[in-house]
Amino acid sequence: PSSKREGFTSIPNVKWEDIGGLEMLRREFNEYLVKRIKNPDKDKANGLRLETGFLLYGPPGCGKTLIAKAVANEAGANFIHIQGPELKSKYVGESESKARIMFSRARTCAPCILFFDEVDALTTKRGTEGAWVVGGLLNQLLEELDGGDQRKGVYIIGATNRPEIMDQALLRPGRFGKLLYVPLPNQDERVLILKALSKNWRLNANVDLIAIARRCANFSGADLSKLMNEAARVASEENFSEIKHAHIEQELGKLRPTVSDKEKRHY
Ligand code: ATP
Repeated sequence: PSSKREGFTSIPNVKWEDIGGLEMLRREFNEYLVKRIKNPDKDKANGLRLETGFLLYGPPGCGKTLIAKAVANEAGANFIHIQGPELKSKYVGESESKARIMFSRARTCAPCILFFDEVDALTTKRGTEGAWVVGGLLNQLLEELDGGDQRKGVYIIGATNRPEIMDQALLRPGRFGKLLYVPLPNQDERVLILKALSKNWRLNANVDLIAIARRCANFSGADLSKLMNEAARVASEENFSEIKHAHIEQELGKLRPTVSDKEKRHY
């Protein structure tokens, strides 16, 4: 209970309405997770063992973090955001104890969603750290994930751009058992994202978001967000109270998508 007061956890304020596109994922999470968190007794009555761990994968900046937060918001669940690399430590046993603390914190404020960003970083050997450090952390994670009843009310969502480098043991049922792909948006989805982002600003009536979306091939949601931020900055520098189409056009000429055509094939 004290963990709430200390500000470690809270219910995120991201709503599905803030997210453009990704309707499929909204439906899946509603079915697999939100309903269950809201009605835990129904789950028990069914006697079904349903998946409690999810892995969102796909190119950077396409809404994995937003989705996890919107799920928590919708379900009224607490949310703990863990950056994969932050759990790593060069001291023997420290990573393991950090992982234990995260899970126990999640249990005290259940229902809770534990979100592991860059989850691949937890389980692969990188940089100067020895494999033994990561190995210990991986084992600790597996132990926590397999905690059964101990894990009641704690749901896991991981995010990665590189699922192929993750330890396969993590992907089994009960761990990060359900894989969900979060793609780069297509043209129609880019319009939806631009619309969702536009709630933050006043747009002039001459802004044509469909025309903009058409010219943003390969742009991620994060790229589109950057575009709108830049356009808003220019508009305000020029003392306009609203963004005009020309402001967006002008900034569009300066931006390149994060994911190139060549990289796109890897996702
Ligand atoms: P990474 O893999 O780099 O961690 P991610 O997939 O978790 O990225 P988010 O952090 O969810 O991406 O998105 C980054 C920002 O991009 C968001 O804060 C938001 O401004 C914007 N964004 C991304 N996708 C969308 C979307 N579908 N709708 C609206 N905004 C989006």
